[in-house]
Amino acid sequence: MRMSRYFLPVLKENPSEAQIVSHRYMLRAGMIKQSSSGIYSWLPLGFKILKNIENIVHEEQVRAGHIPMLMPTLQSADLWRESGRYDDYGEEMLRITDRHGRDMLYGPTNEELITDIFRSHVSSYKDLPLTLYHIQWKFRDEIRPRFGVMRGREFYMKDGYNFDLTKEDALHAYNRHLVSYLRTYERMGLQAIPMRADGGPIGGDYTHEFLVLAETGESEVFYDSEITDLRFGDRQIDYDSVEQCQAVLEEFTSRYARTDETHDESIFAEVPEARRRTARGIEVGQIFYFGTKYSDAMGATVQGPDGKPTPVHMGSHGIGVSRLLGAIIEASHDDKGIIWPEGVTPFHCGIVNLKSGDAEADAACEAIYGALAALGLEALYDDTSERAGGKFATMDLIGLPWRITVGPRGLKNGVVELTSRRTGESEELPPEQAVERIAQIYGRAAPQA
Ligand code: ATP
Ligand code: MG
Repeated sequence: MRMSRYFLPVLKENPSEAQIVSHRYMLRAGMIKQSSSGIYSWLPLGFKILKNIENIVHEEQVRAGHIPMLMPTLQSADLWRESGRYDDYGEEMLRITDRHGRDMLYGPTNEELITDIFRSHVSSYKDLPLTLYHIQWKFRDEIRPRFGVMRGREFYMKDGYNFDLTKEDALHAYNRHLVSYLRTYERMGLQAIPMRADGGPIGGDYTHEFLVLAETGESEVFYDSEITDLRFGDRQIDYDSVEQCQAVLEEFTSRYARTDETHDESIFAEVPEARRRTARGIEVGQIFYFGTKYSDAMGATVQGPDGKPTPVHMGSHGIGVSRLLGAIIEASHDDKGIIWPEGVTPFHCGIVNLKSGDAEADAACEAIYGALAALGLEALYDDTSERAGGKFATMDLIGLPWRITVGPRGLKNGVVELTSRRTGESEELPPEQAVERIAQIYGRAAPQA
């Protein structure tokens, strides 16, 4: 993408309404624009990152054997009356009446709708296990929308639902989700720690929230510092293996890590004092096994192996896709702007032309831009006539992890500059080698000699 043709409305001033750094940088980098309280337009740069995050979520869900689909945003109130949640949900639910006077709502979540789909089409235990998910906009009329996309009213969420014959099978689905979430967040350059959460009215041990540690987080968390040393890494896992998934769950949940809802001082006191931590965290996901709550209420049964109707065991599993943009920025920025991890960056690298209009500099930039494109790598090429300082400031603000700087002086010596946004370190090297390095970083084949 050439900057001269892009739509990147960066702001020079700090917007006064933004209280936390991620909100500030998202507005300044021209990623989002508030349309009304807690509701945002996603401008091109923000939209690109949202899609990158969504893609990672999809890839990891499909890898775990879960099946993508799409349910609508608007739902009929009748289903929610069946489950009893139409009245329970309260003012967070946006209720709408259509022209025929029918009660509708903008879905805050999809347990009812998915259970209805399931009961309409699945009648035998032979069709289980089944895990369906979608990534769709949700609406919750939050009393205090704030921090930009962190706590919006309209927000983008992945929600998945497992249907299993037995509790044991459903717990395997739970573990599978835990593993897939660990992989998902790590691919985004994030450490999200599974913490024991509150099962709400249903209770039980089977819910974990995934938290990204950050001072601006809304949750208070308590944990054993050893947990921050754990990485899933690039290990291979067979998602059908009950033992393997269970082992990962044990590894990642055996140390103390709880949100304030389930925090227990007496158990926490057993953690050696030097390792006890109290901090704040951003909830970026939650997994939940809730047994037969919805299948009982809505008559979602299958014919079991014994021929008898058996209510299915279910769980639901959410990832806050739009909130993740804020969480990643909170975890990865400096005083100049955002630092995108390679896994989610909107462009693989930036190209700054120090002297647009100079024939040699223009030609060198075009050659680099073209060579990257040929490798399937997308650069944001600042071909405008803005002064160099302004170009650098914009690149730093929008946070591309790598920048290639091209100017007449370097070209005289046959070199350009490759700069890491994270470390600030620069290196001079011939243009072809700079391209090769970017290709290596992103695991693309190096150009043919
Ligand atoms: P919270 O406690 O932050 O209100 P929740 O526990 O009610 O969230 P879930 O129903 O677990 O939310 O939804 C799954 C995920 O969706 C959450 O982990 C979070 O990342 C995201 N999410 C929930 N509410 C919002 C919101 N208002 N704005 C943006 N993301 C949200
Ligand atoms: Mg939650």
